[in-house]
Amino acid sequence: MAEVRRINSFGVRSWLETIAKISREVALEFVECPPPIIDQCNMVRGFLGHGSVVSFYAMMVCEACDEEIDQLFATASCATHGGALPPTPCPRCGRAMEIDDIEEQYLSFLRAGP
Ligand SMILES: [Zn+2]
Repeated sequence: MAEVRRINSFGVRSWLETIAKISREVALEFVECPPPIIDQCNMVRGFLGHGSVVSFYAMMVCEACDEEIDQLFATASCATHGGALPPTPCPRCGRAMEIDDIEEQYLSFLRAGP
């Protein structure tokens, strides 16, 4: 999913119609989901059908040196950090980076069932 830059309402409808046709017997896993996809997961119930997010990107910022990076996270690594993002050291200065969003809101897809 890494190449998805944006998705409009028509795209969301088409996507939902398509994903609903996929048999539940088919394992569905989504990797490298960028923020536009995660935002939809958080807003639209059942956006990924019966699938789940294996890994996703989050925009991380460093308040110390203003560095910004798109960091890839494994969904499983959040589970082992109590449902939060694992620590992300800044590649420039080494300090802890923070998500450029409201973390609890951005990660709400982790708590929603398929
Ligand atoms: Zn920094």
